[in-house]
Amino acid sequence: MNLQLIERAKKYEKSIAIVASEGKFTYQNLLRSSAQIATLLLDGKEDLQEQRVAFLIPSGFQYVTTLWGIWRAGGIAMPLCVAHPRPELEYAIADSGASIIIAHPDFAALLHPIAIERGLRFILTSEILSDNICALPDVDLTRRALILYTSGTTGKPKGVVTLHQNIQAQVTSLVSAWEWTSSDRILHVLPLHHIHGIINVLTCALWAGAECLMLPKFDAKIVWERIIDSNLTLFMAVPTIYVKLINAWESADFELQQKMSQGCTQMRLMVSGSAALPVQVLEKWQQISGHFLLERYGMTEIGMALSNPLHGERLAGYVGKPLPEVEVRLVDENDNLVLADTPGEVQVKSPGVFLEYWQKPEATAASFRDGWFCTGDLAVVENDNYRLLGRLSVDIIKTGGYKVSALEIESVLLTHPLIQDCAVVGLPNLEWGEQVCAVLVLVPGGDLTLELLRIWGKERLAIYKVPTRMVVVNELTRNAMGKVTKGELVRQLQDGSLVK
Ligand code: AMP
Repeated sequence: MNLQLIERAKKYEKSIAIVASEGKFTYQNLLRSSAQIATLLLDGKEDLQEQRVAFLIPSGFQYVTTLWGIWRAGGIAMPLCVAHPRPELEYAIADSGASIIIAHPDFAALLHPIAIERGLRFILTSEILSDNICALPDVDLTRRALILYTSGTTGKPKGVVTLHQNIQAQVTSLVSAWEWTSSDRILHVLPLHHIHGIINVLTCALWAGAECLMLPKFDAKIVWERIIDSNLTLFMAVPTIYVKLINAWESADFELQQKMSQGCTQMRLMVSGSAALPVQVLEKWQQISGHFLLERYGMTEIGMALSNPLHGERLAGYVGKPLPEVEVRLVDENDNLVLADTPGEVQVKSPGVFLEYWQKPEATAASFRDGWFCTGDLAVVENDNYRLLGRLSVDIIKTGGYKVSALEIESVLLTHPLIQDCAVVGLPNLEWGEQVCAVLVLVPGGDLTLELLRIWGKERLAIYKVPTRMVVVNELTRNAMGKVTKGELVRQLQDGSLVK
C-alpha cells in the first residue's frame, strides 16, 4: 500500500499544488519530481528502511519535493532550520544519526564540511535528476516518517518521531474540523522545521488538493501584497506574525489599508496558534480584517488537540474543545481528574500522538501516563471550553511561536568566558509572547554588553534562543535545593525590584 498522501495527489494531477519563487507547480510536477528525488536517494537500493535524511532547503517547491522524495524512498525526513547556526545543525544531524544530507546550494558551505567530517552522503538540490524513475517501495503507515527537534525541560532538544499514520491522523483531524477542500488557497509564511508549517499548512493543503503559496521567508509587506492580490481562502500564523502585520497595516496609508482589509475579508478562515494569542491582538486584528481569529492549541508531540470552532461562537482567550479523534483530560499532580472549574495539566490521547523521542526511551516513557501524553501545560475548562493558564515548568519559554529551553540557553551562556553564573527566564511581551532574558553574574572585573552577547550567542544558538534582554547582578538567589527561584526573578524583573 502506498502512502495515501501520495495516492490522493494523483486525483489532483492537473491542479496547482505549489506556487513559490521557483514558479507554479502542479500535483503532477510534485509527483514526478519527488519520484526523481526518491530514485536519487535510493541509488539502486530497494528501500531506505528508515534511514534519516537531513535537509536544509528554503521554503519552496524543492523543499516539498525533497520531503516527499524522502518519504517515497522509505526514509525518515529531518528538516533542518534555515536560521540555525552550525552547532545546532550539527547536533541534530549527529543525534538523529542521519546518513544523508540534502542541501540547497546556499547552505553548501555550512553543511558540506559536516558531511565530510561525519562521512555522510551529501546531495545538492542543484544536482541534475535522472528521468529514469526506479521502482519505489511500498511505505507502510506504521513506519517512521518525520523527526522534528523540540526543546524540553531537560538540556538539549529532543527528536520527536512521528509515524506516517500519526501525520495522517493529525492532518485528517484538521482537514475535517476546518473543512479544507481542493478549492482552498493558503499563504505559507511559517518556518518549515516546525509542526505548524509542515503539518497544519503544507501537508493539510496537499492532502486536500489545495494550492499552497510559499514565501521564502516572512516579510510583512509581501504578506500583505499576497493577501491583496492572491485570492487566498486561508491564512495561519503565530501571534507574533499577526502583531507584525498589524504594525504594517497601521503604518500604511488609508487607501492601502482599505485594500489590505478587503483582501482579508475575502478569506474564509484565519487561524492563530503555537503561542497564546493576546486578546488585544485578537481584537485589533478583528477591526482590521473582519476576522475573529480561530485560536487552536497543539504541540510537536501531539499535533493539534484543541480548537475553537470553524462555525459557531469562538471565545477570546480560549482554545476551544478537542478536535476530531482527540481526547483531552485535565489532571492534578497525582494524575487524578480535576473537578469542574479546577486547573490541571493537559493530557492528550489520539492517533496523532507521536511514537517516541528519538533514541530516548526513558524520556518517552516519562512523558506518558497510561497512554496519555503529558503536555506540561496547565489549563482549566470553563463553559465547556479550555483556557490555557501557563506551563508547569518555568524552564520552557515560548518566544515568537518557538519553544525554547531556558536550561539549554543557560548551558551555552555558561561557556562564555565572562559569565560566571546565569539564569534565563521568559518575560511576558505583547509582540513575542515571551522575551528571552538572561540574568548574569559576570566574572570579577568582567564587562559585557547585550550587543556583544548577542553576536557571540548567534554563532552558537538559533537566533530566537539568543537573549534579547540582559541584566547583570552580583548574585542569583537560590532556594535550598540550589535552584534559582525563577518565578521570583521574573516578578522582580517586572516590578523593577531586582537588586543588581
Ligand atoms: P511546539 O511543540 O513548539 O508547537 O510548542 C507547543 C507548546 O506551545 C505547547 O505545549 C504550549 O505551551 C504552547 N502553545 C501552543 N498553542 C498555544 C496556544 N494557543 N496558547 C498558548 N500556548 C500555546
